[in-house]
Amino acid sequence: MSSSDEKEIYVFCEQCKQNVLLRVPLTSDAATRGGLMSVVSVHGNPPHALMAYLDAEFRVRGIEYPAAAQTADAGRIESVPESKTEALEEKVELGLLALLDIFHPKRKDAIKALAIIMVNMLTKKRIFLIHDEKAIGTSVISALHDIASFEEDLITLINHTILSKSELNPFCVYDLQQNKLLHQGPKIDSKYFERILQDIAKHENPYFRLKNEMSKIVYAYGRLQEILSALDSSILDTQLACDASIDYELLPFLLEMAESEGHNIRSLVKKDGLGRALRSI
Ligand SMILES: [Zn+2]
Repeated sequence: MSSSDEKEIYVFCEQCKQNVLLRVPLTSDAATRGGLMSVVSVHGNPPHALMAYLDAEFRVRGIEYPAAAQTADAGRIESVPESKTEALEEKVELGLLALLDIFHPKRKDAIKALAIIMVNMLTKKRIFLIHDEKAIGTSVISALHDIASFEEDLITLINHTILSKSELNPFCVYDLQQNKLLHQGPKIDSKYFERILQDIAKHENPYFRLKNEMSKIVYAYGRLQEILSALDSSILDTQLACDASIDYELLPFLLEMAESEGHNIRSLVKKDGLGRALRSI
């Protein structure tokens, strides 16, 4: 369990496709003066290493997978200049900022729309995007599938002619040409993603960060659903966050999604007042 003088952060490891827990002493000043800190995790079977670059607010700003790291390196923390992460951004056809621009010319509205779409993706609802130019629509869809590391095709491109002949309610439908949300899909609060997207869009590496955050949530949400389905008595929320390998602050958002999908959260999940108090110190 956590101790109050450490910050626990989960990151998604691309190698073992799992969330990995990093522990950083709150006293660490490795990321002071605008720089970053590198934190090494050696984990898994066969053992492999992940090096995460965190800023002073414990945001994950980049990840590398050093082949040479040994078990003895686990937990090692070093100061790294911020420029280090610039080279770590993924080379993609459609970066996050360009993607947002297609959704809406106003950044705030673009973020709102993308956040709603991401919630629909997480709960595996079908999504329809509208664009009469197939090439643009297709590149948006492949970027979204890539960000969520989804193999399955949840998003369908249609044009305005098809739209006029179809009844797509209750699915999420967004018109990329008129920059307009036609239907939201299930009513789930997407504010969490709005905050994440606003923060991510301000820094280097937005594509990497969104992809890692989304993969982390996809993984944890899958685990959470398995755990909730198998429960025969109630569970403490702190234990649930730990079992699902997700940051405790993220749990309310995941539980809201699970509730919208029919899990009886109120009777299954009990608030761990003491555990929470310890974590907030
Ligand atoms: Zn791993």
